[in-house]
Amino acid sequence: MAGIDIEGLATVYPNGVRAVDGLDLQVADGEFFALLGPSGCGKTTLLRTIAGLESATEGTIRIDTSDVTRTEPGKRGVAMVFQDYALFPHMSVSENITYPLKVRRVAAATRHGVAERTAGELSLQGLLERKPGQLSGGQQQRVALARAIASEGKVLLLDEPLSNLDARLRLEARTFLKKLQRDLGITTVFVTHDQAEALALADRIAVMDSGKLRQLGSPREVFARPANTFVANFIGSTPMNLLPGKIAADLDGVVSVAGGSLPAATSSAGREVEVTVGIRPEYLTLSTSDVTGPALHGEVVVAENLGTQSLVTVDCDGTLVGVTVPEETEPAAGTSVSLTAPTTRVLLYNQSTGEL
Ligand code: ADP
Ligand code: MG
Repeated sequence: MAGIDIEGLATVYPNGVRAVDGLDLQVADGEFFALLGPSGCGKTTLLRTIAGLESATEGTIRIDTSDVTRTEPGKRGVAMVFQDYALFPHMSVSENITYPLKVRRVAAATRHGVAERTAGELSLQGLLERKPGQLSGGQQQRVALARAIASEGKVLLLDEPLSNLDARLRLEARTFLKKLQRDLGITTVFVTHDQAEALALADRIAVMDSGKLRQLGSPREVFARPANTFVANFIGSTPMNLLPGKIAADLDGVVSVAGGSLPAATSSAGREVEVTVGIRPEYLTLSTSDVTGPALHGEVVVAENLGTQSLVTVDCDGTLVGVTVPEETEPAAGTSVSLTAPTTRVLLYNQSTGEL
């Protein structure tokens, strides 16, 4: 088993695109680590650079403390699962799974044993003699995983392995993958553009944008306390409210926003400051009766059913604010409401840099 240590890493393509642009991060031994970011932010390039399929332009990559920056891919001790699985269509499932062992000249009898065992671990029993074309998407995905695991790498690199599955199968495969990683205890870097998938699976998440790291933290940290408005916008199944606000020069403990004010850990230092106020819909409380203390006041525009919760959109003096409520307490359009929040949930971002 092994950790990964990346320092000052840049990968520049021949056309000049800096797909990875000065990245520092450490993945701990046995960790399930997610790389999350929008399409084109450099996730695949970073994974391929760790695997040695792209060469690093700057910086170093260490795996299990040894510097592998210039080591050829086959000798880095990593196994990668590609987004399209890259199975060999003319080979059987068994041959696909044990191909990396054949390359290393492992004896056929040993390979057969590995194929049987790995197929068992990945619920592929009975499919070993089939060709990839005779398998469902979910089965192909597990064969690709089986091949990576059978190669006995120290590190598993997964590039959007669930993105080709339909919604229901994706959820099943997600649970399966989480359990498998926990059972094997193998250091895993998992690439996804799906924030819900990253939150559900990972021990820690690195949020990337334009080749750079925007935040690194546990799912709880990146959800509850996004370090900047980019991460705030990207994480969460209901969009975080980002509202223009003002901290008065002479009034501490509140920030004024359209439709009223919210409690906040302010530090105006005697001057008026304009900020972006970040508050998750899940952390606002909606009341239809009078409230005391700082609150936003407005009128319900629309409510959307999310299952057990409803997302209610409130017009606060021309600014739209989202708040989630238990589905059975959903107020009708036109209702006058007040919104309150605890101080700790109200985040203040610098209006020009977008950072906390
Ligand atoms: P992601 O996996 O996050 O979608 P990629 O790593 O595929 O992002 O791409 C990052 C950037 O690098 C994009 O701007 C993409 O167009 C560019 N890019 C990817 N592969 C190549 C390549 N082989 N040559 C030149 N530019 C590339
Ligand atoms: Mg990609």
